[in-house]
Amino acid sequence: MNIKCDVHTHTFYSRHAYSTIEENICAAKEIGLELLGSTDHFSGMLFPEPLDLKNYQYFSNVGAWPREWHGVKLLRGCESDIIDLKGNLFGHDFYFDKTIVSDPYTGGKDLDKFVTDRMDYVIASVHGKGFTIGASKKETTEMYLGALEHPKVLILGHTGRSGVPYDVDEVLIRAKELGKAIEINEHSFEIDGGQSSGVCKKIAIRCAELGTKIAVSTDAHISVDIGRFNNTVTMLEEIHFPEELIANRNAEVFLETIKNAKLG
Ligand SMILES: [Zn+2]
Ligand SMILES: [Zn+2]
Repeated sequence: MNIKCDVHTHTFYSRHAYSTIEENICAAKEIGLELLGSTDHFSGMLFPEPLDLKNYQYFSNVGAWPREWHGVKLLRGCESDIIDLKGNLFGHDFYFDKTIVSDPYTGGKDLDKFVTDRMDYVIASVHGKGFTIGASKKETTEMYLGALEHPKVLILGHTGRSGVPYDVDEVLIRAKELGKAIEINEHSFEIDGGQSSGVCKKIAIRCAELGTKIAVSTDAHISVDIGRFNNTVTMLEEIHFPEELIANRNAEVFLETIKNAKLG
């Protein structure tokens, strides 16, 4: 199994990550990847409240990124936090009235839309899970279903290690209908003594049975981790996961997946 795209990676904009996009691109080239998706956190973990558009300029200027750099395709993404049980994403309830240069803003978009409109795709993940305490499985399932309906979300991030149980079948079936993917995240194999990796394996098996696509990601927070999916690949080979369901197995397939998901 040879996976040619890493579609969940961070730069030091994420505040607890350490490399630049170019360092990540060079690492991708070195390890033989065709495509890198740079997907920094778009989340309340970045800056203190009150929210201010000035802090998110990094995302508003992604048009400056080359589409190909050092021979590797570069996609513009972000990892948005799911912030409530409806599956709304970070920034959806923040309306700003001034642009970054303090001119009046009349575009009418909330911060979520303002940022994600510029992205090729979005990963939706749960980080702070305080809002899920006491929630029923029905509610947490609706949360993931809601996030899947977001017009720019292509991938549900690390659902196996977020620690929020949900009805796997219901979410996987909807993801399949929408042509979207469930992430299997390499980090999940390196934490909590294998507890998360067991959940991820179960999710992967169900994806294979239901025909739902997965995205295999490193979630690299430093360039040396780019493209290193070893634990995930070992697990997928062990369960004979069908390669045709790996949305990021090569650049052509991943770009086709984005196109077919008709991200708005
Ligand atoms: Zn992170
Ligand atoms: Zn991440």
